[in-house]
Amino acid sequence: MNHLVRSRWYLSTALLLILSLAFYSAFSPIGYADDLQQKKEQLQNVQKSIEEKKKQLNDIRREKADLQNQLAIIQQNLVQSQEQLNKAQKQLSKLEASIKIKSEELDAAQKRLNDENEIFKKRVVAMYKSGPMGYVGVLLDSNNFLDFLSRYEIMKRLIKYDKDLISQITMQKEDIARQKQELIKQRNEVASVKNAIERRKKEISIQLASRSGILRKLNMQEQTYKSQIEDLSNESEQLTAIIKKLQEQAAQRKNAVRFAGGKLGWPVPGVYDITDPFGPRYHPILKVERMHTGIDIGTSYGSTVVASADGRVIYAGWFGGYGNAVVIDHGDGISTLYGHNSSLLVKEGDMVKRGQAIAKSGSTGLSTGPHLHFEVRKDGVPVNPMDWLK
Ligand SMILES: [Zn+2]
Repeated sequence: MNHLVRSRWYLSTALLLILSLAFYSAFSPIGYADDLQQKKEQLQNVQKSIEEKKKQLNDIRREKADLQNQLAIIQQNLVQSQEQLNKAQKQLSKLEASIKIKSEELDAAQKRLNDENEIFKKRVVAMYKSGPMGYVGVLLDSNNFLDFLSRYEIMKRLIKYDKDLISQITMQKEDIARQKQELIKQRNEVASVKNAIERRKKEISIQLASRSGILRKLNMQEQTYKSQIEDLSNESEQLTAIIKKLQEQAAQRKNAVRFAGGKLGWPVPGVYDITDPFGPRYHPILKVERMHTGIDIGTSYGSTVVASADGRVIYAGWFGGYGNAVVIDHGDGISTLYGHNSSLLVKEGDMVKRGQAIAKSGSTGLSTGPHLHFEVRKDGVPVNPMDWLK
């Protein structure tokens, strides 16, 4: 609600109240006390509900923060898994390429072996065919012993050469086969690692999806609580106005206080740090644009809060978002409010003097740190305290 709408709302509510009060006072003079008591109880209940909702909202915010941390970690894990997966895939591709090369080498070695075997066999067969007695025939066919020796040597060397070559190729082939086997083993290992990473990535994705779902739900709950608190705060404000009017009416019947006139006294002597001025602002806790109905004076815990003018205490106690609050009626439609106190030094009905200690400052209610929330109201409508303070 913006300031103008709220002001207009206050005025129409006030008008309605005055009318109904006039009716009430005409026909039921005892009704005031009962009605006041009833409204006060109602206000207490609303304030209790606000406190509960605030607690629930805080729980949800904590849960949300937890979840967001978890999500950040999960997302980090996901990125890490993807990186590991890419690395494994690269390794796998490299191994596949090496295996392919080794297979080709193996095929070539096998072919060479086959060729050499073929040549060896042919040579042996040719030698057997060259005489009825084969090798022996070749040897015995020699013309002399020297010739025999040299033929024998050549043959021996030829056979040895063939045999060496074949065994060399065989060894080579075995070596290549071993290397290929080793590569296949490595590839299988990398593939199983890759599968494990893929499974983990899938699990992480499922975690991410479920956590995101919970976060969405929490966000919705948070919104619900926020709007419930808003509704309750509005209700509280309405009740405040009603009580105010009833009390003002009651005060006028007995020894009504009269405003002395002039400027109001500064509520925290010696502390002049205004941390938040009067006017519309972004609420630091409710996270919505709201009218700031007073000024915030930054204090330490336990600073002495004093009455701005002579008057009667018309409220002293817990007041929802205001925490421990004091409301003083100064007469002639002027009242002041002192919120977020750590302790109160006056009670309802007390008559107080300007400058009299009424509370110790604190951070109760909807507050993020020790300060005094100070309001001035004219006929129940919040006005800028700076226009009234000395
Ligand atoms: Zn304030």
